[in-house]
Amino acid sequence: MSKKTEVHFCPSCGVERHHIVVLVRKPSGFENSSNRKFKEFVSGLIKGWFVGPFSVSMDDLSRHLICEKCGTKIIED
Ligand SMILES: [Zn+2]
Repeated sequence: MSKKTEVHFCPSCGVERHHIVVLVRKPSGFENSSNRKFKEFVSGLIKGWFVGPFSVSMDDLSRHLICEKCGTKIIED
């Protein structure tokens, strides 16, 4: 499993750093149980890791960028 990283400015480090990119599916709003939500979250995560961003509509995903140095998380919608 290869990690996808991108260089972004880290507000915590104050410089550009490599960030691990994690694609997280946004809650779609129609699921009622927290269990369902968790499954959606996991499947979104797995798709992000294994299939890549192109098979899933980007509209459904949030990009979480995690600084490799300090762990600060940036969420892009
Ligand atoms: Zn940082």
